[in-house]
Amino acid sequence: MPEQASPLAGARQRDFPASPLPGAQAKAPPLRLAGIVEDSIVDGPGLRLTIFTQGCPHDCPGCHNPETHPVNGGSLHSLDELEARYRENPLLAGVTFSGGEPFLQARPLAELAARIHALGGTVITYTGFVFEDLAARARKDAAVAALLDATDLLIDGPYIKALRSLDIAWRGSSNQRLLDRERRARLLCLISPEPDSV
Ligand code: SF4
Repeated sequence: MPEQASPLAGARQRDFPASPLPGAQAKAPPLRLAGIVEDSIVDGPGLRLTIFTQGCPHDCPGCHNPETHPVNGGSLHSLDELEARYRENPLLAGVTFSGGEPFLQARPLAELAARIHALGGTVITYTGFVFEDLAARARKDAAVAALLDATDLLIDGPYIKALRSLDIAWRGSSNQRLLDRERRARLLCLISPEPDSV
């Protein structure tokens, strides 16, 4: 990425196709995945099932997973299969959606997240978008809203090679944020502040 450009500017300008609204189809479509790691210890707290989604529009310079970028690559996996794989290991603390860009497949991921929550697991979602842009998108895309709602911890922002750090947990570059539900709620207040009540 050119040094003079704001590292976030490109990602903010990129967009992705509208997701079908939840309920628009009787059954969520299968997920197109680049890979699955069944016992990750580096993608969030505890032992996690990490699902690498296929397809990414961000094109971050220095990306370690360029094979995940084509939207038609990878292979298709049903939600039933992924839930079954999660159930196979009682030691799992939850699932992590990585990529690729998970928000390209927001609807089936939101449904899978609901299944994991029902089993007592937590849900972490990585995204190359920044939360503020996703929150704006969620106002017109119910699938994006559903995946945000289903995410316990969002790790946001593109990978920026110049900000690469080995000293921060679960992230590749220091611009990326760990946004739990409370922190996201505070950011939403900053985006749309309540009128002062005097
Ligand atoms: S968002 Fe992730 S997968 Fe996509 S280009 Fe950036 S580093 Fe690579």
